[in-house]
Amino acid sequence: MNLKNSKFYKRIQELRRFSKEKIRKDREMRTSVRLDMALSEQRPGRDSDLEWSSSPRRQITPRRRLKKIKGKKKAPARLAGGKDTVCSSPADGELQPEADGEIQSFIQLNEKCYRLSCSRQVAAKSSRDDANSISEAKSAICVSNSRYAMIGKISKTLGYKLVKETKLWNILWSDSFPGVELFKNMKRFQQINHFPGMIEICRKDLLSRNLNRMFKVYPHDYKIFPKTWMLPADYGDAMNYALTHKRTFILKPDSGAQGRGIWLTNDLKTIGANERLICQTYVHRPLLIDGYKFDLRVYTLITSVDPLRIFVYNEGLARFATNKYVEPTPGNSTDLYMHLTNYSVNKRNSHYELCDNDDCGSKRKLSAINNWMRRHNYDVEEFWTNVDDVIIKTVLSAWPVLKHNYHACFPGHDKIQACFEILGFDILVDWKLKPYILEVNHSPSFHTSEQVDREVKRPLIRDTLSLVSAVLADKKQIMREDRKRVKQRLLKTKGETLQRPRASVVPSIAKPKTDGSRTKVEPEEEVDPLGQQIAWEDGHMGNFRRIMPPTDGTKAEYYSQFYGQTNQVSIFAETAASKKREDLARKMRLQIEEKKAKQDLMLNGRNKPDKRKRPLVLLPRAVREKNRVQLYRLQEHWVPGFISEAEERLRHTWLQMRTEAIKTLRITENVYATLYEAGNLTNTDMVVYPHLYQHMQNGYDIKHHA
Ligand code: ADP
Repeated sequence: MNLKNSKFYKRIQELRRFSKEKIRKDREMRTSVRLDMALSEQRPGRDSDLEWSSSPRRQITPRRRLKKIKGKKKAPARLAGGKDTVCSSPADGELQPEADGEIQSFIQLNEKCYRLSCSRQVAAKSSRDDANSISEAKSAICVSNSRYAMIGKISKTLGYKLVKETKLWNILWSDSFPGVELFKNMKRFQQINHFPGMIEICRKDLLSRNLNRMFKVYPHDYKIFPKTWMLPADYGDAMNYALTHKRTFILKPDSGAQGRGIWLTNDLKTIGANERLICQTYVHRPLLIDGYKFDLRVYTLITSVDPLRIFVYNEGLARFATNKYVEPTPGNSTDLYMHLTNYSVNKRNSHYELCDNDDCGSKRKLSAINNWMRRHNYDVEEFWTNVDDVIIKTVLSAWPVLKHNYHACFPGHDKIQACFEILGFDILVDWKLKPYILEVNHSPSFHTSEQVDREVKRPLIRDTLSLVSAVLADKKQIMREDRKRVKQRLLKTKGETLQRPRASVVPSIAKPKTDGSRTKVEPEEEVDPLGQQIAWEDGHMGNFRRIMPPTDGTKAEYYSQFYGQTNQVSIFAETAASKKREDLARKMRLQIEEKKAKQDLMLNGRNKPDKRKRPLVLLPRAVREKNRVQLYRLQEHWVPGFISEAEERLRHTWLQMRTEAIKTLRITENVYATLYEAGNLTNTDMVVYPHLYQHMQNGYDIKHHA
């Protein structure tokens, strides 16, 4: 039978033709888009000018813009300075990122200068076509776990598609810290706005513990926070300090917020010995503006923990107290409107001032504070260098945990970073302009009740969403790779090794050093995700400045010492329990050594020889032989002993009773809640009991309610 005449063969040929045709059409479509761009650069016309510039502030999403480019062959260029304008400032072809996600370029043709506009995604695609790195699809963001409508609105204007949590989002923006289960199920193109373990600096007690630990190791470098004790554990230390220093103390609940439960005292004896509080020396001479105390809210974006990359937003807020400041006395120490600068406290005061002018009001912009400092001859540059230093050191104090948690939660996230996070650093400044870290907020408020809020927070969100590298991940390709990987795993036969997709090998080639520098990329690898991320971030900083890794080499070297040391120091090194454990371990070690020495003495009739001289203590040959045979018997000819059925049944019943007791007395829940409250939960605890962790996060009382 002639195979070529068979129905089957004909059908295959037909399908082949069909797919070839489809590929050709696709290719044509893509080249036509590129051609359109080229045409628009060469033939800018008045019509196009009108169309593009008639509503310049209108936000055009990347997809809509792409449609326009496709639809009108001659249209999409925008004339910048009229026909005869001569190109001036930016170099030809240089790309200028704009706030609304639009990138502009200037080109010069026939002695005329034209401004060219195209969407961020199109431009990014064309500039990185070779690397084939940027997703053509519209990025999706899920904001359903955020109470701030602004986030969704800004995302939309930037071309993000708003989706539900159940869909395949690129970014998940959540106000609260998500459960470990979510981290575990994240795909390699997905990003979330929290890092696992950031709680290490975002809870007052954990922050104090980390900073105290660093202060003990680096007493000169870590004078960045007021002296702090965790009560009741450090009650004795605090009392000792109070006896020798005449100071006012500020007392705060260990995980409180918004100024709740805070009070001042200069008599620590009034505190109960079992109260769980953070006790801090009060910064009694703060910097005053117009006679009022204030603190700074500095917005900080972390885009990666290994290597550590930190950006600080140049604009932020200064929050003012609403009663004029007087140093604390027994008479005024209860005046919270004088001593606390929280908005939530001061908004209740009738003196709270709303003001459109930069230089008045109870909430002002950081730029206004900078201007005030300049007017009063303060060195603003130096001040911000010190603030940056405080921020870097605070993050570094939790770096080992952050790094460990990140790698534990996202072992396969090789294309882009799995997380980014905006932190709100509360900084208090004293009269010598020395900044102190008071608190770090992992979900700073994005309420925009006042004009000044809108002016600061909207650009902050916009710049953050432009800076994060979510767009660098090609969702479709990653999904394809993942499917292939699953298929391979299913088809894998015994002895065959699994062929990993190319991308998963990538992180090993660009292994970052802790200071942000990277090792050389091996020649056979094409894509370097970290390199791409760095290039993307550095090109989309908006109003952010990068503080880590620092641009200055000496600074980078200075901070590298804190990475190394923090790795060696145990986080729990200084707790009372750990000290006891260490003591006990030391005693046991000594006892064992003594016992061993006695045994040696009995066996050899002399003291154990110096280890450095003779590393091996040999037993007599006969003893050694006997031991060896015994060991061999144990390993090779192990026979189980007699098992009594009655005994087994009894043991089984006891085990069941024990399980029942654990359940009914809610022992697991009680232990878990206690560990959680003490901040001693480990990563494993979170992974093994995700439901309990979720409940604790949501504030349920798991000790008493099922
Ligand atoms: P909360 O999380 O409840 O806002 P903070 O630690 O931020 O608690 O403190 C609230 C306010 O108390 C701060 O904004 C600041 O004005 C004041 N404050 C806190 N600690 C000190 C301190 N050590 N010295 C002086 N003022 C302080």
